[in-house]
Amino acid sequence: MFLEELEMLAGAGRVSRQEPMALHTTFQIGGPADYYVTPQKAGEAAGIVRLCQREQMPLTVIGNGSNLLVSDKGVRGVVMALEGSLAFRENRALLPKRASWSFYDFFIKGTQVWAGAGIPLSALAVRTAAAGLSGLEYAGGIPGTLGGGIMMNAGAYGGELADCLKEVLLIRPDGELVLVAAADLKLGYRTSRMQQTGEIVAGAHLQLSEGDAEQALARIREFNARRREKQPLEYPSAGSAFKRPEGYFAGKLIQEAGLSGFRIGDAQISEKHCGFLINRGAATATQVRELIQEVQARVWNQAGVRLEPEIRLLGDW
Ligand SMILES: Cc1cc2nc3c(=O)[nH]c(=O)nc-3n(C[C@H](O)[C@H](O)[C@H](O)COP(=O)(O)OP(=O)(O)OC[C@H]3O[C@@H](n4cnc5c(N)ncnc54)[C@H](O)[C@@H]3O)c2cc1C
Repeated sequence: MFLEELEMLAGAGRVSRQEPMALHTTFQIGGPADYYVTPQKAGEAAGIVRLCQREQMPLTVIGNGSNLLVSDKGVRGVVMALEGSLAFRENRALLPKRASWSFYDFFIKGTQVWAGAGIPLSALAVRTAAAGLSGLEYAGGIPGTLGGGIMMNAGAYGGELADCLKEVLLIRPDGELVLVAAADLKLGYRTSRMQQTGEIVAGAHLQLSEGDAEQALARIREFNARRREKQPLEYPSAGSAFKRPEGYFAGKLIQEAGLSGFRIGDAQISEKHCGFLINRGAATATQVRELIQEVQARVWNQAGVRLEPEIRLLGDW
């Protein structure tokens, strides 16, 4: 009965059962989700939120899974992924009827941009740069979606999403769609009010500035080259494992604790960048979690600094 209702809300072929989360995380780790659903529109997702609330079914939202460590036992209840490729439509009316806003909609008017939560940040950065807009170049190499990015207030190279956000379309835990000013989202370093409230980002309105397309694209290429040089992009990971502690760099602290290359099973501290925990092939979530705890303990003993994970743990531990 629950399955049929879920399929009715999301559309045929958009629900699967016992879906391996390793297929949906950049760590390539994670056991099965009981239900895995990929709604395409804000209204469909809001319906799923209401259904799960009514049935008291746990609901977890993900984007591209690029900041996640999912338990080997998987996730109970429903995992709802807001994904989508970039569908660029230049001549659309502003702010379509909210419930029909699909997660991959994206349009520009002047220096303002409206985009669905499922758009890959990298695609959004490149398309806005190519349109002669400046303000998202730093995000060209962040492998998340806009929704996950807003939830984490993702950033790099001195920029963060909070800098250009005007308002955000949220799905409240009761399934209501509301447009909220960015100033009310408590956006801070890798944090937002959604991390406490469980609200879901369905889309956003961004304010960029006029720029030069060639220059903006060149900056993206330059940032991406820096990433390739410094980060172990050849291995599955979830990016920086720890937040930057005030006054320090996590990677440097980990290196100074003698942990470069330290491994538990196939979970390893990257030798290229100690802030990254990588999967050498067959790492389990348990091994990664043990490695996180070991790093925290050793850095605490060595430097007296508490490292807080940036990676978010999901599922049944
Ligand atoms: C190689 C690599 C490099 C990276 N570099 C950077 C970097 O430079 N800067 C940076 O900030 N991050 C970086 N990251 C981490 C990651 O890409 C970001 O945190 C990104 O914003 C996560 O987006 P996502 O769509 O993958 O979210 P997910 O990983 O799927 O989810 C992250 C969290 O957000 C929640 N969530 C996801 N979508 C929504 C939504 N629509 N509404 C509400 N909650 C949601 C999830 O429940 C989860 O708690 C990197 C990761 C990798 C693998």
